[in-house]
Amino acid sequence: PEVAALVASRIVDVPDFPQPGIVFKDLTPLFADGDAFREIIDATVAHYGAGSFDVVAGIEARGFVMAAALAYAAGVGVVPVRKAGKLPRATHTAQYALEYGSAALQVHTDAFVPGQRVLVVDDVLATGGTAEATLGLVERAGGVVAGLTVLLELEFLGGRARLAAHEPHALLRV
Ligand code: 5GP
Repeated sequence: PEVAALVASRIVDVPDFPQPGIVFKDLTPLFADGDAFREIIDATVAHYGAGSFDVVAGIEARGFVMAAALAYAAGVGVVPVRKAGKLPRATHTAQYALEYGSAALQVHTDAFVPGQRVLVVDDVLATGGTAEATLGLVERAGGVVAGLTVLLELEFLGGRARLAAHEPHALLRV
């Protein structure tokens, strides 16, 4: 569809970032284009339907850009899922493996009203480790996952298979 072509047209491939051999997909030009940004937000809200989620959870840091706009467009609030050590109050922590080493994400233990339907958002779904960790955090904090949405899914990394229970939505899959 049109929105997939729009996303594709605003992505810049950056070879050897952040490490040799990795082609990083830079989505900053998509965020910087006002018309494109409005379209990706509206298309995502339309996919789920306003009223189908009660709050948006954004994954640090590029997920925050999407999360705030989605929440505003849908008339709901936004919750940050942050890298370890950034949130000031009691948190749940999820550790997950990276290609080299590990990382940890956190959410405030009282971030959600129990049973609140949470739309989780990030810019890119790659191996799925980040998303899987976040979905677990949402559930531990009492939320119910209403969906997981990304702008771009890198299908060859197989993230979707790790998230089978939650059928991710991607505006563009490559
Ligand atoms: P995963 O945990 O699925 O392997 O990686 C996804 C996370 O890493 C997301 O938070 C995403 O922001 C980041 N990421 C991985 N690869 C890329 C990429 O090529 N471009 C961008 N913009 N982010 C990436």
